Amino acid sequence: MKERMIRVIVCLPVILALSCVFLLWREGGKTGMIVYAQTAALSGEAETEGAQLPASVAYHLKKARKDAQQYYYYAAIKRLSSIQNYEQYEPVTEAISHYQDLMNQCREYPLDQITHIFFHTLIYDTGKAFDSDEDADGYNQVMTTVSEFKWIINSLYRKGYVLVSLHDMAQVDENGVMKPGRIMLPEGKTPIVISQDDVSYYHYMDGDGFASRLVLDGDGKVKCEYVNDDGSVMTGDFDLVPILDDFIELHPDFSYHGRKGILAMTGYNGVLGYRTDEAYKTGANLQDDQRAFLAQHPDFDFDAEVSQARAVAEAMKANGWEFASHTWGHLNATTSSWETLAKDNERWMKNVAPILGSTDMIIFAFGADIGDWNPYAGDNPKYSYYKNAGYHYYCNVDSNQYWLQLTDSFLRMGRRNADGYRMYYNPEMLSDLFDVDAVWDRSRPVPVSAMGVQY
Ligand SMILES: [Zn+2]
Repeated sequence: MKERMIRVIVCLPVILALSCVFLLWREGGKTGMIVYAQTAALSGEAETEGAQLPASVAYHLKKARKDAQQYYYYAAIKRLSSIQNYEQYEPVTEAISHYQDLMNQCREYPLDQITHIFFHTLIYDTGKAFDSDEDADGYNQVMTTVSEFKWIINSLYRKGYVLVSLHDMAQVDENGVMKPGRIMLPEGKTPIVISQDDVSYYHYMDGDGFASRLVLDGDGKVKCEYVNDDGSVMTGDFDLVPILDDFIELHPDFSYHGRKGILAMTGYNGVLGYRTDEAYKTGANLQDDQRAFLAQHPDFDFDAEVSQARAVAEAMKANGWEFASHTWGHLNATTSSWETLAKDNERWMKNVAPILGSTDMIIFAFGADIGDWNPYAGDNPKYSYYKNAGYHYYCNVDSNQYWLQLTDSFLRMGRRNADGYRMYYNPEMLSDLFDVDAVWDRSRPVPVSAMGVQY
């Protein structure tokens, strides 16, 4: 294997956030028509008001503007250039030339200076999560609250961070060779990867202040359900996915080419709050909490559960979200044999992939990697298995700001935990991203327990 390896640990560049300025179109007028205005500063020409464009042209201008806000200038220009006789519409030619200028001002961001943070399911009701029951200490260590997450993404946005995917950092070419990607961003913008683990709403979390599942609302948007003590159900933004969706709707320039986050998914309790594992259908090898769930839901409809989960997953993927394997059974890949990992992956393929789609990314449970810090070698049977099974992207947990290995065969990246443990014990390790003093949820019990931290 020809190694093209990058492994860098670098300390704290302070990066100034500069807002990008974009062409502003002001919508108005009759249905299907657009009255356009543009800032003279951007176009270099006098403001034009009142001219009317065919609805289809206005539509493409609007779509192109969204692409350009997300640094996808190439797509914006391609879209506008494909309008029939586009040269006759001045707003179109001006937009093309403006996007061309912005594209020319972008520079390629170094892949080895991209950081990756991750979260677990967010705590919505801190009173329930931190109620001193047996799970409270663990939640306080490895979870982040809804309020903290909102502060964190505001801080990231203000500092100029932009969400990218592992798939922007590298892609497998037609010959099966991993090739570095080119992330092109304006000065002052910094790529970051965000992932969220275990978005299954496991049975053990019931009644502890977490959402219960992801659903589609009347507009087809992904929202959370939350079950109150009296059994009534609320729908809203009680976890990371809808919070980030809403934030990017308000601030499209927080996303590169429409990217959102990567969800690392197990399968043993189903996915996204739906009880989709075959055990719920066959009744074989049920755990106690699964048996209790089925007893409490005599009208449980497995097929309906699967199709609802699939609809939510489809909507998420169409909206920039991606899924990774977190192993089916939340296995420790360091201590498991390759044969165990292989059997586990077959279960993921059988029970999870039909709902979320297959994936080429694996995010190790507990951060437990299949090798030491040296690049994976072909004689590592766990790596050989996963690579042959189609995995090209591997993530562990590492508290350094940057940890990347990119070879002809794989991309391997460290992830940083932005949770109660890290915020309480090492706030300085997060200072490039946010100020823990401002973010910290005062309803957390202190001190945060330091015992048995696991991811
Ligand atoms: Zn996990």
